[in-house]
Amino acid sequence: MVASVIVDISTSEIDRIFEYLVPSGMQVRKGDRVLVPFGNKTIEGFCIDLKDSPDTSRELKEIIDRLDPYSAITEEQLELAKFMRARYYIRHVDCLRLFIPSKLRGGRVRELKRQYVCLAQDRPYEQLLEEAATPARRAVVERLKEGGEFLSRLTSEVSASCVNTLIKHGILIKTDREIMRSPLGYEPQKSELPLLRPAQQAALETILSMQRKVALLYGVTGSGKTEVYMRCIAQALQEGKTAIMLVPEISLTPQTLKIFRSRFGDIVAMLHSGLSDGERFDEWRRIITGDAKVVVGARSAIFAPLKNVGVIIIDEEHDSSYVSESNPRYITADIAKWRAEYNGGKVILGSATPSIESFLLAKRGQYELVRMDERISGNMPDMHIVDMKQEIISGNNGIFSAELTASLKDTVARGEQAMIFLNRRGHSSFVMCKKCGYTAKCTDCDITLTYHSADNKLKCHYCGKRYKMLDCCPECGSREIRYGKIGTQRVVEELKKIFPDINILRMDNETTATKTAYLDILGAFASGEAQILVGTQMIAKGHDFPNVTLVGILDADMSLYFSDYRSAERTFQLVTQVAGRAGRAAKLGKVILQTYSPNHYVFRFAARYDYDGFFDKENNTRLVSDFPPYTTIMRIMMSGADEDKVIECAKAIYLKIKPLKDKYDYDIVYMQAMKSPVGKIENKFRYQILLRFKRVRERNIIADAYKAMEEGKTKGVSVFAEINPQNLN
Ligand code: ADP
Ligand code: ZN
Ligand code: ZN
Repeated sequence: MVASVIVDISTSEIDRIFEYLVPSGMQVRKGDRVLVPFGNKTIEGFCIDLKDSPDTSRELKEIIDRLDPYSAITEEQLELAKFMRARYYIRHVDCLRLFIPSKLRGGRVRELKRQYVCLAQDRPYEQLLEEAATPARRAVVERLKEGGEFLSRLTSEVSASCVNTLIKHGILIKTDREIMRSPLGYEPQKSELPLLRPAQQAALETILSMQRKVALLYGVTGSGKTEVYMRCIAQALQEGKTAIMLVPEISLTPQTLKIFRSRFGDIVAMLHSGLSDGERFDEWRRIITGDAKVVVGARSAIFAPLKNVGVIIIDEEHDSSYVSESNPRYITADIAKWRAEYNGGKVILGSATPSIESFLLAKRGQYELVRMDERISGNMPDMHIVDMKQEIISGNNGIFSAELTASLKDTVARGEQAMIFLNRRGHSSFVMCKKCGYTAKCTDCDITLTYHSADNKLKCHYCGKRYKMLDCCPECGSREIRYGKIGTQRVVEELKKIFPDINILRMDNETTATKTAYLDILGAFASGEAQILVGTQMIAKGHDFPNVTLVGILDADMSLYFSDYRSAERTFQLVTQVAGRAGRAAKLGKVILQTYSPNHYVFRFAARYDYDGFFDKENNTRLVSDFPPYTTIMRIMMSGADEDKVIECAKAIYLKIKPLKDKYDYDIVYMQAMKSPVGKIENKFRYQILLRFKRVRERNIIADAYKAMEEGKTKGVSVFAEINPQNLN
């Protein structure tokens, strides 16, 4: 027997299938991880195929060992990897790595065969703690409170004699079975089923009976989409199938998990990149063994090794987090559709602001369009647009308009809650010379630096480099340095001046650095401990706080002026989502949107909650200007430390790409090679080839472009492609 093996190696140039002999007596299956000799080393690999005779005539080496007691990669994932390779130009091993928890890899795998220890199950925790007698032993008991551990790991981190004593005294017991940690830390109560509203009932019936593979559930914020998702999942479970529920932010997983656990119990697992290695491994094991049947998570949960997936739900499908921007790059909806196809299941894309692309596909009949136009609570919040230019004219130079200040006071006085949304982190963003326009940039990355008041430093968000704050302009010497736009921290400071006595919470990248921070902040706000929550895009999505009646949106235009064809769409989505946080329960909500462009169509449509109107206008713009969804944008990026080599490589690839223009004629609407807008990141030079083409022959064009990349590859230069990238820095 000969095994085709993908070796687990990081060298980006190696993307080959190697052949190994399966020694007689060894049982190797497709999808198993194996240990193989490679050069003069022993490394891990994935067996992706088995055959009777080798393709090469070279003498083959033998597989040393199988690594796991089960196949870590499922049959479906082996097929999925093929699809992803053809579509995204990524290495085999980078696909396969996506499918397994990192804890399995890198030699630590032997732990799988070792022994576990856990607390004795026959008496209460408190008693065990008492019996432990010494502080060191008690610490071990505390550590194992939520679940067992590998004996080897435990003894590598705490004194082995201490552990042995505990085992001798029967406080710890050895076991060959894992005792699972529960990521929530507790099991919520099972909930009663609410009676569906007519719109929910109709949506559910349509989705369950549709012939199409994909439904676009367009439901305004607060229309009760979650309940529809859960009914669809219940149906899948009843048919003996499994389900995946994706949410756009890690911060939304705990609350979704809680709702799902209380409906479906412990067959719900959670997967996202915020879990610890151990938790991730536990959850993954529960899935691959079939114990978990529903997976809730962020983007990466789309790869959950569930069998027989009946329904995949992508909530807030328009969200950019569903596109992976770092290697390996992939689009979650592509994977979802592929998996649904493979398993004969369904995909539900849900949103209050569907992407232009999805809505167009729904209008064309490729997706089933399902609408829920009304809130469960009845009313949409009133949205007021405030012209900030007028505020300045009338003498108000502050962050808050007069109307927002007054409304905040009312809300606070009524004992209700407010959310203030701002799309930025830190104290204020860029630093600029008022006289000559100089802005501080990172010397390594060519990116505008961000000012952080906490340590009075300028920081590069791309590489993390820090710089001293300027006190005069290095170009012209002027001392008139302007701090750019406002940040969350500054907003909190200003609010404290107006409301010295109330509690204000802040939620952004900085305040959510620790693992439990999301839940702590959201929990504190939900319990009414604070009356105002200030935050970035993290507070824009999904959260359901019944006592929030006011939402303030500061600097709404900010996202309008990005150099991105999607900036209008993004701004519309953001404003609608944030507004959707107000007045979700019985109390009426109000939204105050502050902008310097009050007449912009985005705000006019958003204020009327007119998604259809916005869609028509935006869709038409895309059509006449040849932008997605009418075309596909492809960026081929070449980067490396040696600029000459990068240029050489870019030239070589461009030479191969250029003839495509003749081959595909009018189908290619744009083709250009250039230095990237951010020419350098972490001391790597970046050059790019941009292509924009009509969609009719996109498969062929993409395949040809990948071929050109393959042929033009140069050693020392990394080459990758992005399809419809989220940004073009
Ligand atoms: P969406 O995801 O569409 O923004 P949610 O699913 O969060 O909306 O639902 C909004 C609120 O309505 C939630 O508090 C939810 O518990 C409640 N809700 C949903 N369906 C029903 C129903 N059939 N009866 C009563 N309340 C419901
Ligand atoms: Zn200057
Ligand atoms: Zn930098």
